[in-house]
Amino acid sequence: MKSLGVILALALAGLQLFAVAVVVFSSFLTSERALLEHARLQLFDVGTNVIQHTRWFMSPARSATELSTALATNEIVRREERDHLEGLLFQQLRSAPQFAGAYYGDEDGNFVYVKRDGDQQYLTKIVDTRADAAQRTLFINRGDDFSNDGQYFDPEDRYDPRARPWYIEAKDVRGSIWTDPYIFFTSQSPGITAATPVIGLRSHVQGVVGVDIEIKALSSFLSELSVGKNGAAVILNRNGDVIAHPNPELLTTETEEGGLRFPSVYDIADPIVKAAFGDRLREDEVSVDRIVQSNFRHMDQDYVSLIMPFGLDDIPWTIVLYAPENDFIGAIIDNRRQNTAIAVAVVLTTALLGLALANRIHEPVRAFAVRSSLISQGEVDPNEPMPRTYKELEHANTTLVNEIAQRRKSEREYRLTFENASRAMAHIECATGKLLRVNKSFCELLGFGTQELDDVTFQSLMDPSERETVGEFESKISGTSAFGFETKVIDKKNAQVWISFNGVFVQPSDQGSMYLVATIDDITQAHVSEEKIETLNRELARFSRHEMLDELATGLAHELNQPLTAITQNVDAAQSTIRTSPENVDALQEVLGAIEQQAHQASDIIKALRALVRKDTNMMTAFELRELLDQARRLVRPDARQHSVEIINTKGPELHVRAMRVQIAQVVVNLLRNAIEAIAEDGSARRIVRMSAEESGDFVLVCVEDTGPGIKDGVELFTPFETTKRDGMGMGLVISRSIIKANGGEMWYDGSKTSARFCFTLTLERQL
Ligand code: ADP
Repeated sequence: MKSLGVILALALAGLQLFAVAVVVFSSFLTSERALLEHARLQLFDVGTNVIQHTRWFMSPARSATELSTALATNEIVRREERDHLEGLLFQQLRSAPQFAGAYYGDEDGNFVYVKRDGDQQYLTKIVDTRADAAQRTLFINRGDDFSNDGQYFDPEDRYDPRARPWYIEAKDVRGSIWTDPYIFFTSQSPGITAATPVIGLRSHVQGVVGVDIEIKALSSFLSELSVGKNGAAVILNRNGDVIAHPNPELLTTETEEGGLRFPSVYDIADPIVKAAFGDRLREDEVSVDRIVQSNFRHMDQDYVSLIMPFGLDDIPWTIVLYAPENDFIGAIIDNRRQNTAIAVAVVLTTALLGLALANRIHEPVRAFAVRSSLISQGEVDPNEPMPRTYKELEHANTTLVNEIAQRRKSEREYRLTFENASRAMAHIECATGKLLRVNKSFCELLGFGTQELDDVTFQSLMDPSERETVGEFESKISGTSAFGFETKVIDKKNAQVWISFNGVFVQPSDQGSMYLVATIDDITQAHVSEEKIETLNRELARFSRHEMLDELATGLAHELNQPLTAITQNVDAAQSTIRTSPENVDALQEVLGAIEQQAHQASDIIKALRALVRKDTNMMTAFELRELLDQARRLVRPDARQHSVEIINTKGPELHVRAMRVQIAQVVVNLLRNAIEAIAEDGSARRIVRMSAEESGDFVLVCVEDTGPGIKDGVELFTPFETTKRDGMGMGLVISRSIIKANGGEMWYDGSKTSARFCFTLTLERQL
């Protein structure tokens, strides 16, 4: 069962802890999600910005196209217009600071090239294929105002524009091309070349205009960008080369041949870029055609990253942007730490307050519980004033007090009932059979004092000859269902007492061990009368044999008749033989022999009869009649039960008579049987046989009356062989009447009632 204190503590402290935790955690989650989303948006903005900037940065290269168109229309690509061409290129260079150089090469191998040469200084290179070898290549230093600051020839220079990749490609494509970014040889800076063919009137390529754009500025631009606090953006070419990086020093790496090239994104000396990109895309998928966003972890730092395509057809580049998550959610993490600390402080304070409050609420309940427990143990009087508590508990207390009062009353009543019960009672420990408690009647039954029965087992009181019953008792007390049995016990004076034992099991409510409440009745008297009845029964059996003998005597008379008649006839025959032929000795002897034989036969019959009759040793004695009537009743009880007949023996003072006890019993049994059989045949609803006995002058009048149908018409009572029963003899009433007569009384049928009533008298034996 849950304690109120625990429930209150959980409710007051636990629930608010839960609530604070939910609020802090959910606000943490939602704000973190929002900020990460914001981080991505910011990365996206930066990426878009880079693209715009790059677009702007590269747009002047478009003017190269315009330039080539102008060159074609104005025909200034002719050798004669070389100065004009140089001036045009010079102007282009000055107008776009990102241009490193602008040049034109034609189909004959002529070449005009203007490039930056330090701060506000320019250098022109002119290749004239028609000049002699020593003057083929001319270099002119130009000032910012196109002034000639000195010139020289370089006879060693064998430069041919037509062999350069930008020329070949633009001529092949017959349109503008961008080269892949590469490291400019002279400046060792990263750059890119835009080249456009100059198409002549007859649609054939006259030459190619090229513009070198230094893209170092893109790296500077990237370094100035703020991507979070510690993030960065890099630009990759379609082949995975890193062509712009906030740290331009990382942008050049030496080739095996000693040249310079861009580092690949997979081997650049910037592990974060590698992590941001390298783990996400395979080598053959450097360019992306959509925005790829992801998170990655590097050196125990979580990063957000975005990989964006440029979206410009002629610039196949990709931007990789990344920034540590902490740049965006660092503040919130700090804030969360603070919040968590505040929440913990709030939780602890409110938990302590909650516990204190729970304790305060629970205190009266606890005091009440302690009091209840003390009351139930009997240590506190239920009427003592209650501790300060709640109304509901006061109600519970009233109920409890009433309950306890009721329980005590029941206990007192039970104790008194137990102590003063007229029947012997005992509490017996189931495990051992030990007597835990006995009442006065129990002690009186066996003659022991209460103390003498301490530590005594019930088995030890049982008669040692009842060994089987002792075993049965021991197995029954280890069970749980009520049981009963009859046995002999030995009292203090060593006399046998017959008892009937009935036990029920009781499980105490206080978890004590189970015991047996036994009720013990003294049935010694009943046993004695039982024995007496058995004796009477045996005697009746013997008497019945005498009855049979009477019947036998009738049969014997018939048997005797035969030899005696034969003897008489044979004597007549002998006399006649003597009279007529006395010499015939043989015939005479034969007749005499037959007579002798028949005489022996008769003698045998008589001997047998005497032998049977000799056992009748009945004598007249004085006895109590009511007891005999009751014993007779018990003898026929099985028959009566079988036919649901109740036999009532009317009570009254003791009546002593003088008669042959067994014979009188036979008469009563006979009358009771007749009555039961009459009711059984009839099937009437009232099924009662009533026996009565009363004093009447010098006699005692005994009547047996039943609720049966009465004597059938035409039956001659007290007449031998008069019977209406299939297997009846019709001798019962005849014999009964002769027995009563032999005992000095009379017997008759009382026809004054509709039902049958037979009465007889016996001589009263007056008590002195
Ligand atoms: P049995 O019982 O062998 O027939 P009894 O001499 O005892 O011989 O009875 C003779 C007859 O008397 C019975 O067959 C019965 O018809 C009648 N009789 C005796 N007692 C009763 C009775 N209580 N009620 C009705 N008829 C009885």
